[in-house]
Amino acid sequence: MTAIKDSLLEPLKDGIFTFACHKGVDCFTKCCASLSLVLTPYDILRMKNRLGMTSDDFLLQYTETRLDPPARFPMVTLKMNQEDKRCPFVNSQGCTIYEDRPGACRIYPVGRASMKLEQEKEAREKFFLVREGHCLGFREDKAWSIEEWMVDQGADEYNAMNDQWLEIITSQRSLGPEKDLSRKIQMFFMASYNLDKFKKFVFESRFLRLFDIPSEMIDRMAKEDTELMNFAFEWLKFSLFGMNTIRMR
Ligand code: SF4
Ligand code: SF4
Repeated sequence: MTAIKDSLLEPLKDGIFTFACHKGVDCFTKCCASLSLVLTPYDILRMKNRLGMTSDDFLLQYTETRLDPPARFPMVTLKMNQEDKRCPFVNSQGCTIYEDRPGACRIYPVGRASMKLEQEKEAREKFFLVREGHCLGFREDKAWSIEEWMVDQGADEYNAMNDQWLEIITSQRSLGPEKDLSRKIQMFFMASYNLDKFKKFVFESRFLRLFDIPSEMIDRMAKEDTELMNFAFEWLKFSLFGMNTIRMR
């Protein structure tokens, strides 16, 4: 979660912090408002499946898109309610999509800065605390290591998927000639955020006749959204940067 004014980013001493969030805290759900919450492709996939929506409908109803130079790619944020600026998924009982909440909500009040270089298998990561004035969870006495917190919050699969995408959005590779930019940005948007449309692009066009994709991988992509998303990231490296990640027939 980002962009709350009284927040203070704090380095994590020895990787340990003291925190608990539960319905008994006076601030319960206060943090779920006025957010500028950037959604990753995996966040969107989990949420739209949770809600039983198509990617198109989810993007239309719950998100806003913005392009903030010098970033090269459009980012999607969760749209807060117009009237009260609260998250559309919060009610008096808490988060109504808790098991599928976005990665940033999951690890809060921890922040994770990561960087994934092409030549490195694992992302480099740094953790910090987002210590916001309204958050009373820091007064609780439950101690956590970062590792324990990440496991408890189910963050590992989010981090694994998000790091692959991070490699694309932070790549220093050229996007090629100016005349191709708009088409490439549209491709980025579809393959990143609109997995249903990307699936049609792969399975309902000439795509599989043009590209040499192993049949086991095609089967897995047809069945598993995460396999399709992994492939979408490889496709983006090929189509945006001309990398050798996918072979033509
Ligand atoms: S402000 Fe902190 S303690 Fe309060 S509900 Fe949010 S995360 Fe939990
Ligand atoms: S998705 Fe859930 S946890 Fe995240 S801001 Fe909305 S209600 Fe809060």
